[in-house]
Amino acid sequence: MASPFERKTASTSNRARQPGGGPSTRAVHGGENRPLPHHSLTHPIVQTATYTFDDSADLRSFMEARMWGLHEGRVDYGRYGNPTVEAVEAKIAQREGGEAAVLFSSGMAAITTSLLSLLSAGQHLIVTEEAYRRTREFCLSFLRRYGIECSVVPASDVAAVEAAMQPNTKVLFTESPTNPYLRIVDLPSLVKVASRNGVTTMVDSTLATPVNQRPLEFGVDLVVHSATKYLGGHNDLLAGVVVGSPSLVALVRQNLWVCGAISDPQTAYLLHRGLKTLALRVRQQNETAQRVAGFLEAHPRVRRVWYPGLPSHPDHHVARGQMSGFGGVVSLELEADLDGTSRFVDALEIPIIAPSFGGLESFIEQPALMSYFELSTEERLAVGIQDSLVRLSCGVEDPQDLIEDLARALERF
Ligand SMILES: *Cc1c(COP(=O)(O)O)cnc(C)c1O
Repeated sequence: MASPFERKTASTSNRARQPGGGPSTRAVHGGENRPLPHHSLTHPIVQTATYTFDDSADLRSFMEARMWGLHEGRVDYGRYGNPTVEAVEAKIAQREGGEAAVLFSSGMAAITTSLLSLLSAGQHLIVTEEAYRRTREFCLSFLRRYGIECSVVPASDVAAVEAAMQPNTKVLFTESPTNPYLRIVDLPSLVKVASRNGVTTMVDSTLATPVNQRPLEFGVDLVVHSATKYLGGHNDLLAGVVVGSPSLVALVRQNLWVCGAISDPQTAYLLHRGLKTLALRVRQQNETAQRVAGFLEAHPRVRRVWYPGLPSHPDHHVARGQMSGFGGVVSLELEADLDGTSRFVDALEIPIIAPSFGGLESFIEQPALMSYFELSTEERLAVGIQDSLVRLSCGVEDPQDLIEDLARALERF
């Protein structure tokens, strides 16, 4: 049997490895550019703010090469590039099935810089409902101050997306799965509508990870992740990433150099390390969440469970068509009021109360208290958030322990 690796000889090894094989093989070996400096197994953390030149002739030849875009292999200043950051970009691009990627200091930095790159005053963008709260805020109030109008449409209604198209629409931004109801957007249909209208598509695929869904394969133009969540996977860093074609990513990168929300080599190292276990972690989290969702759905004190891997989820069939796993987040509504729901959360021993998700530790949150605290019950209902809603992000603990913990808390609250 042929090796899944395209082995490179030492003289031709100056290219990232593109191994075939399964997601775990690719997570470990993909995007690696061996031999690394000093024949190190891991990527060195190149902790420098700037880069040096031997003499004026060296500087001149760099500047000339850069004018022609031929300066590959080095940069002059830390905001324009870093080898440790580039190693992560290569690995993520490879995992997502994209040709290029650019790393940011946070998911929001990735989203805002990308949208600022794609849109100008007088243009229009469409964002689907239930987008991340700060993304909505950026699109609806921040961009509006610069003369960019935004329409919000239901995530799973492709006809509504088509109806919202205007002659000046430039970008269609969506999330899939959404948070907290894990609605799944029919990406192939959305891409069809967007390309008919000459609109650039951007998908926040944070909840899916490239293990479960690769939007570029459906023709989406740009994929964005909060790498703070599953990609980092250890709840110890904040980062964001945008993946797509070399030309779109280069455009976004130009604006990163101006806006300046770069990531740093220490964070990039941690993210690179975390990515090697991405498939391992996500497959475990998929399996745990599926079992937990099934258990919760059968429990009499649970009113409703939202998990795309359950046939009862409104987008189950769409999810099956475009995802190979359904993720580690499960949302549920209890037969309880605001305080009763808090008592359930407090009765749990394993999941930790914290915002965020996607790490090794299971997290639990009551959105009414965490993300929507300043709203009244009525205002929360208007945006679709029940007081009895709970979001559980499964970590990598033993699934049976989590289920027993949930069972105890459901008896007790
Ligand atoms: C967390 C999150 C973001 C924001 O990412 P940060 O890394 O916190 O800036 C954006 N989109 C989704 C879906 C998220 O979950």
